Amino acid sequence: FRKKLLTMKDRESISKDGHKVEIAGNIGTPKDIDKVIENGGEGVGLYRTEFLYMDRDRLPSEEEQFELYKIVAQKLGTRPLVIRTLDVGGDKELPYLSLPKEMNPFLGYRAIRLCLDRQDIFRTQLRAILRASSFGNIKIMFPMISNIKEIRDAKAIIEEVKEELRKENIPFDEDIEIGIMVEIPAAAIHSRIFAKEVDFFSIGTNDLIQYTLAVDRGNQDIAYLYNQYHPAVLNLIRMTIENGHKEGIWVGMCGEAAGDKKLLPVLLAMGLDEFSMSASSMLRARYDLQNYSKEEVQKHLDTLLSLPTAEDVEKYIDENIIK
Ligand code: PEP
Ligand code: MG
Repeated sequence: FRKKLLTMKDRESISKDGHKVEIAGNIGTPKDIDKVIENGGEGVGLYRTEFLYMDRDRLPSEEEQFELYKIVAQKLGTRPLVIRTLDVGGDKELPYLSLPKEMNPFLGYRAIRLCLDRQDIFRTQLRAILRASSFGNIKIMFPMISNIKEIRDAKAIIEEVKEELRKENIPFDEDIEIGIMVEIPAAAIHSRIFAKEVDFFSIGTNDLIQYTLAVDRGNQDIAYLYNQYHPAVLNLIRMTIENGHKEGIWVGMCGEAAGDKKLLPVLLAMGLDEFSMSASSMLRARYDLQNYSKEEVQKHLDTLLSLPTAEDVEKYIDENIIK
C-alpha cells in the first residue's frame, strides 16, 4: 500500500470532481523538511519555530535563525513556507526567560502577547524571517490572535523592520504574505472582520477545540470531552472558511484535525484551501481526496452541522460520507 501511496507523491491534490487544494506539512525543526519533501508536500503550512528557542539556555540570535529559515526556504524552492512567530507560554516554557508562574498559563502571557511585550525578541525573529524571505516563498503567521489590535501592532512592527532592512540594503520579499492562526473562538466568530487585516488564515484546531470546549488539551482526566467532531467546533471552522473567502483570502488548517481521515471530506466541502499535517499523513490524505466530490459532500453540510452531539456527527460521517 505504501508503494501505491508513493505514486501520489508528485500529483496534484485534487478531489473527484476536480477541486484542487494544497496538502502541506507541519514542521518543528529544519530536519523535518526532508520528510515533507519525500512525502510530496506542496509546502509547509506550519513551521513551529518555538523549538528553536526551547531546549537551550539563551535566545537564538538573528543570524542563527536566519540560517535555519533560509535552508528550509531554499529546500522548498517555490513552494510556500509558513513560518509561525514564537508561540511559547502555555505548556511550552523557556526557562531562561524566567516567566512568572501563572494560575492559567493557557490563558496567560504567551505567544503574540509575549512578542508584543518583548519586542526585542519579536524584532530579532522578524528580521531573520524577512531576510530569509529573499531565498524562497515565505509567509509570516502570528499565533494566538484574539483581537484586531494585535494584528495591527504586529504588522506595524513588520513595517518598521522592513524599513530598517531597506536602509541597510538587505533584500527581502516586499510582498511577503502575513496571516494569523485562528485558534481562539473570538477570532473565528469575528473572522469576517479579522480577514480584512491579513492575507490568510490558518485554523489551529488543537487550541480552537481547547478554548471552545474549555478543555485543557493535555489533561487526560477530561480528554473524553476533547472532540474535533463537536458541532460547535465544526460550525466555527465553517464560519472561518466562509468569512475568509468572502474577504478574498485563502484559508488553511494546521491543527491535528487537518489530517483527520473523517474530517477530510467535510473540510473539502467547507472549502478549505490548504491542509497542513504531519508529513506521514500527507500521501494518505491526497489519496483519499480523490474519492470525494466536493459538491456531493456539500449536500450534507447543513444536516451535519445541525446535529446535536459530536457522536452524532461522527456517526453521520461514518454512515453517509466516508468512503
Ligand atoms: C493548533 O493550536 O492547532 C496549532 C496548530 O498550534 P499548536 O499545536 O502548536 O498550539
Ligand atoms: Mg496553537
